[in-house]
Amino acid sequence: MNTIERHESQVRGYCRAFPVMFDTAGGVHLTTEDGKRYLDFFAGAGVLNYGHNHPQLKAALLDYIERDGVTHSLDMFTTAKRTFLERFDEVILRPRGLDYKVQFPGPTGTNAVEAALKLARKVTGRERIIAFTNGFHGMTLGSLSVTGNSFKRAGAGVPLANVTAVPFDGYLGDNTDTLAYLEAMLEDAGSGIDKPAAVILETVQAEGGVNVASFEWLTRLAKLLKRHDILLIVDDVQVGCGRTGPFFSFEPAGIKPDIVCLSKSLSGYGLPFAVVLMKPEHDVWEPGEHNGTFRGHNPAFVTAAAALEFWKDDKLTKDVEAKAARVTDRLQAIAKRCPSLGASVRGRGLIQGLAFDDKSAANAVSAEAFTRGMIIETAGIDDEVLKLLPPLIISDEDLDAGLDIIEASVMAVAEAAADKRSVA
Ligand code: PMP
Repeated sequence: MNTIERHESQVRGYCRAFPVMFDTAGGVHLTTEDGKRYLDFFAGAGVLNYGHNHPQLKAALLDYIERDGVTHSLDMFTTAKRTFLERFDEVILRPRGLDYKVQFPGPTGTNAVEAALKLARKVTGRERIIAFTNGFHGMTLGSLSVTGNSFKRAGAGVPLANVTAVPFDGYLGDNTDTLAYLEAMLEDAGSGIDKPAAVILETVQAEGGVNVASFEWLTRLAKLLKRHDILLIVDDVQVGCGRTGPFFSFEPAGIKPDIVCLSKSLSGYGLPFAVVLMKPEHDVWEPGEHNGTFRGHNPAFVTAAAALEFWKDDKLTKDVEAKAARVTDRLQAIAKRCPSLGASVRGRGLIQGLAFDDKSAANAVSAEAFTRGMIIETAGIDDEVLKLLPPLIISDEDLDAGLDIIEASVMAVAEAAADKRSVA
């Protein structure tokens, strides 16, 4: 047992799956204190879209620290905040015809979700929120109330109220239109659902098992909500910042959510940072009404502004699309090679999953991959999906190396399962 295991609470999680002592990191690799390198296909659960310690972001941060730029300032004016907002408007919002106001909540994803839920309730004067099966939005009470996972929900210790869960796209199989159900519930005064303030969703449910909402479903949902004067909150904490290709995951659906939550890869460097974007007419906050000590961390403004260089043209989006096609092809071939595990491929852009009918397979593949020098996680309520989340800037060579490890690991698990069956 090491010092960390002795002292840190039982709540620790990822170190149990990857029990080595990491020391340094760069690009797509993490290195342990004894020099073993791991290829990172987890990327901090979507934090490291530009890899670990990207040199340009590091240079901007070092320069800012060196010249004694303000580190902490509550939400006072700073040049670092000014630069971030100027660039964000210029590179991200304006080219997409989005005139969102920007709120800096606390620095984590769940902080952004809490603020978004509060705002939607304040704007509409309604209490109810509609959330989707297998959605994941964070661990604080409001976020938990819109999260599906019963294990995480039970941790709340109090009732999680004022939320109605409805089936996500595909939840009831390919032949059931889950939006038709929602539409009927909203339109029927006898449905038992109070008129909601908002609907919150991930366009690709990441923790919930890499479940993809089709663009057509998203477009129809946005229209339905508009008709009923219900706000649409897109939680782009994990699949925003280019994970699916475009900067915002919802862009190809042609929708403009009322409220958007971003965090994880927004600072680009792994520094905690989150924003809530809202249509200007929804900016009904009183000054200081949603407060906090760490709202808009200056070093994160600096690296986030530097990371926007990636978005000055569509090169990264095109790269993600090309790499995504490569990943899908390889995963489909791998799924075909192991029919006994019942594998299928899902995902969009560089969040892709290999879902197994054999519920123990994904964890076993992750463990096998770890012995082969790779960090890769699972998702889904039973951890039944191997979730590929490599940094977006990964080279084709590293991508192929990672896919080779996944293939070898899947085959090892399939063979072990076959051996077990033959002994039985
Ligand atoms: N929303 C989504 C979609 C997420 O994936 C996560 C984190 N996995 C969160 C919210 C919560 O973010 P955080 O852990 O930073 O609070």
